[in-house]
Amino acid sequence: MAQMADARTALEQYFGYRSFRPGQERLVEAILAGRDALGVMPTGAGKSICYQVPSLVLPGLTLVVSPLVSLMGDQVRALKAAGARPSYLNSTLTVPQQNTVLKRAREGWYQIMYVAPERLADERFLAFAQALAAPGGLGIPLVAVDEAHCVSQWGQDFRPSYLEIARFIDALPSRPVVAAFTATATERVRTDIVQMLGLRRPETVVTGFDRQNLYFGVEEMGDKAKAAWIRDYACAHPRESGIIYCSTRKAVDALAFELGRELAPHGIQVGRYHAGMSADERTWNQAAFIDDTVPVIVATNAFGMGIDKPNVRYVIHHNVPESIEAYYQEAGRAGRDGDPASCYLLWNGNDFRLRRYLIDQTHDEAEADPEAAERARQNRYRLLQAMEGYCETTGCLRAYILRYFGDEGALGVEAPGGAVADAAGTAGADGVGGVVSAAGEAAAPSAIPSVAHPAGCGNCSNCTTSYEAEDVTPLAREAVLLVRATGGRFGRALVADVLHGANTERIRQYRLDEAPGYGSLRDEPTARIKDVLSQLVGRGYLVQSQGQFPTLGLGPRAAEVLAETPERPFCFTIKRRAAARRSPARSRRAVDLLRAEAATDSRPRVGDDAELFERLRGVRRELALEREWAPYMVASDKALRGMCRRRPTTREELLEVPGIGEKKAEDFGDVFLAEIARFEEEHAGSDG
Ligand code: ADP
Ligand code: ZN
Repeated sequence: MAQMADARTALEQYFGYRSFRPGQERLVEAILAGRDALGVMPTGAGKSICYQVPSLVLPGLTLVVSPLVSLMGDQVRALKAAGARPSYLNSTLTVPQQNTVLKRAREGWYQIMYVAPERLADERFLAFAQALAAPGGLGIPLVAVDEAHCVSQWGQDFRPSYLEIARFIDALPSRPVVAAFTATATERVRTDIVQMLGLRRPETVVTGFDRQNLYFGVEEMGDKAKAAWIRDYACAHPRESGIIYCSTRKAVDALAFELGRELAPHGIQVGRYHAGMSADERTWNQAAFIDDTVPVIVATNAFGMGIDKPNVRYVIHHNVPESIEAYYQEAGRAGRDGDPASCYLLWNGNDFRLRRYLIDQTHDEAEADPEAAERARQNRYRLLQAMEGYCETTGCLRAYILRYFGDEGALGVEAPGGAVADAAGTAGADGVGGVVSAAGEAAAPSAIPSVAHPAGCGNCSNCTTSYEAEDVTPLAREAVLLVRATGGRFGRALVADVLHGANTERIRQYRLDEAPGYGSLRDEPTARIKDVLSQLVGRGYLVQSQGQFPTLGLGPRAAEVLAETPERPFCFTIKRRAAARRSPARSRRAVDLLRAEAATDSRPRVGDDAELFERLRGVRRELALEREWAPYMVASDKALRGMCRRRPTTREELLEVPGIGEKKAEDFGDVFLAEIARFEEEHAGSDG
């Protein structure tokens, strides 16, 4: 198909990439052939290329609906840097500026325009679009909907304004192709997207959710230990960019202050970001993070929607987020460039107490309908329980997440070259592929059995830790018996205290010191008893009620304990960490990658690649500063590494470097080539 050839040319010319990734290829092909499309791909899979490339090939103006006003400016700047003619229309522009944009758009100046969904309901904008799409007009070939899950009430970030999109499209004199994209969509949300946006038999691509370049770690520790852990991690990775997520503004302020003070002597600056800060301060901090002046930022979940920074090397959660969806989205901001990156979750019981408290305090939605409000509350508890399961599982963490999203098949699938395995779904009669299933019903921990780790990913903290089985049958038996004897009225901590034989006011108050199992586990530390109780819940012997003060009751498998016979003995083992857990302390990832890449080619080279890399980073910084761009808009880390390895001497050779398109080569080529030549000259003769 001729158009597909044009698309490949555009990909190479503007973005400097040789080929589409498999999922991209199918979506672009469908769009160019005039079909609707739905792309469900994890962050970093390359969704934007799927509509940007068609916009450069198709005549007329492509509209991109995005909820992220803050992102629009960046996307437009990045596209401009690549040589395209993009624009955006949102409330950050003054009215005269908006008029100029509309005027130029009417004159056919732009290929692509980003708008916020609210804009679609605007009379003037509708008239503008109708004129474009009318016979004889320039045409609107494509409406691309980013973050399409916002259209669904079942999703995380429902936006009523997304419901305008279908109305807007219906009001156009000729229907454009409609393409929707999202990184998180359970089956239910996907069905919603198709219906609410009125997609017609869309080509559906569901890329595997696995992000192979991400390392996942879970660390249980006390509140005080968390800050020290993060400080040590940041110190060990001084040149890397990282995001630290906290659950409250107060926690952000406290941690940012502490880390700032402790990291300053190491030359590492720390920023912060939350909705309670002034808009100016937020913008400034975000910009400083994106342009690499402030490498570490402490933030609430208000930060990140629309952070397109490709080289975030670690995301550490200082607190537990509300769901696996939220966690995977936030953690997924690490390593968008496909290079190795790490995601750590630090947790303890307080995190879950706080989360439960927050759930009980939320009264925002469906006030009028108490039943719906209760359903929403229960749903939140279910989401949180799955998060609890993630913290407590001893199986592969990646497998746990993938199973949650219904993407179990992805593990063990070799990705063909790219960072993601492409387990694409096919379009069914209703246009919805069938790969991801039932993740909408957030599974409780017990529904997610642990995976023994030889089958695991080998790149998460559970897979890199060895465990040994430990028989704790007597403990487990006493616990189940006590829960039965006390009628399931008490929570985990109190049950543990009773078994341990603690002498507390609450125990005396409920006269639990007279309960039959009181003190039966006097020799076991309460922490250990609590641990076993959690695992009993996890495996279905006990159940934990929902609510802020959850209680333990008998689970479906309790009978196996209570009806134990010599022929059918009850036996309960838990996994114990055999060796202390150590995080793989790779302090300078870029350098490691350079070394690894250098090992695969035997070309003689002058000087050390790592040294050149730092020099080119400096050049990139200058170029970015001059233009007030983020450094990655000048060239990605990967492109710089490509230069170190290939050592181009001409523009043609420079164009061979992945990520360097024609416009970049034209604008910056000479500067980079000169720096490389200078570097080689300085090192000539001394080594090589
Ligand atoms: P998403 O929007 O899905 O999170 P992006 O569009 O930001 O992903 O792309 C993620 C990264 O992958 C970017 O650095 C982008 O330049 C790169 N990328 C996208 N498509 C390709 C491709 N076909 N070949 C190489 N790199 C690509
Ligand atoms: Zn694993």
